[in-house]
Formats: sequence, C-alpha cells, structure tokens
Amino acid sequence: LTFSDLNLSDWALQTCKELGMKKPTPVQQHCIPRILSGEDVLGIAQTGSGKTAAFALPILHRLAEDPFGVFCLVVTPTRELAYQLAEQFRALGSCLNLRCAVIVGGMDMISQSQTLMQRPHVVIATPGRIKVLIEQNPDIPPVFSNTKFLVLDEADRVLDTGFEDELRVVFNCLPKNRQTLLFSATMTSNLQSLLEVSANKAYFYEA
Ligand code: AMP
Repeated sequence: LTFSDLNLSDWALQTCKELGMKKPTPVQQHCIPRILSGEDVLGIAQTGSGKTAAFALPILHRLAEDPFGVFCLVVTPTRELAYQLAEQFRALGSCLNLRCAVIVGGMDMISQSQTLMQRPHVVIATPGRIKVLIEQNPDIPPVFSNTKFLVLDEADRVLDTGFEDELRVVFNCLPKNRQTLLFSATMTSNLQSLLEVSANKAYFYEA
C-alpha cells in the first residue's frame, strides 16, 4: 500500500514525498481512510508509529477543502508534546496557508486569548490552560463552535493525570457533530469509560 492508495490530495502526497515518508506506516494505512470517510477513531499506537501523521494528514486534507474557523482542536498532556505536534502539523501543512496555535501553560494568557480569537485552523493545547481560557473569557467558547475535529493525543496519559474536569469543559464547547479521534499507547479503563459516553461508535485500531 502507498500513500496514493489512501485517497489523499496530490499536495499531501507531494509533501509526504518531500518529508521522506515513502510508505504509510500500519496506523496510517488503517486510520487515514477511516478519518477521511468521517469516522471516529480510537487508535492504540505508540510514539514513533507515525500516529501524528495518521491524524494530521486526513485533517489537513479536509481543512484544505474548506478552511474556516478553528477546524481542529488537539489536546495533549504536555507542553513538549504540544510543540512537537505543532511542528508536524506545520511540516505536513507547509503548502497550505496553515495557521496553527500552541496553547500551553507558562505563556501569557492575554496573548493566547487574542490568538484564539483570530481563529487559527489548528489549536494544539494542554488541558489545564485551554480550560482556564474557556472559563475566564466568554469570547473563547464561541471560537470552537464550528470545530470539525477533536483529537485527544496520548489519551491514556491525559486521563491518568486526572484531567477529566478539564476535558469536560473543553468537550462542552465543541459541537456534537464533530469527529473525535483518540490516540493512546494503551487501552485503559478510563479510556473505556470515555468511549461509553461518546455519541458515535469508533473504529478501533490496534497494531
Ligand atoms: P509519531 O509516531 O507521530 O511520533 O512519528 C514519529 C516520526 O516518524 C516522526 O518524526 C514522523 O515524521 C515520522 N514518520 C511518520 N510517518 C512516516 C512514514 N510514513 N514514513 C517515514 N517516517 C514517518
């Protein structure tokens, strides 16, 4: 199987080639077509498996067709992961005029609010900081009212860290008809209970 078997746009195929991605990894082979066709996905995949591109490529493909508002919110447990995710989104979206914002603790909240009000296409956030911004500034929840994708990256770590409250606040300002993509290194009972409250049945991928 090659990237061109996965129904991705020509620009995406070209970008993969330029980044030296010759062949899709297993998580990419299985998840990219499902995400493109509108399914929710739960992927059990480790760092290094190519999981970031497995969600970033189909999200960017859909974004390029109809760019508007905050198209995608990615929640990840740590600042370092947030910056790494942003780097991959920017690399994979280098031929789009992609606006991608990182919203993490330790940075000025006023400028983070202003950044969000400009409605970047992709917001990559840690749970604590995005929760505070949503709760403190009434202009922020509407920013997410048309979001098409929620990604929970390293979902097991997000849940094990006790971020349930933060996630509830975030989920509450997203539309119900969004696509939800959960990626986790392990299947945990916390993850199981999160799935039980999700509206759609998710495609389950495990290597
Ligand atoms: P991740 O699992 O998302 O942390 O990705 C690990 C690394 O693999 C990243 O540096 C990617 O740029 C790289 N990568 C992702 N997909 C592929 C691929 N299909 N072929 C070669 N490298 C890849």
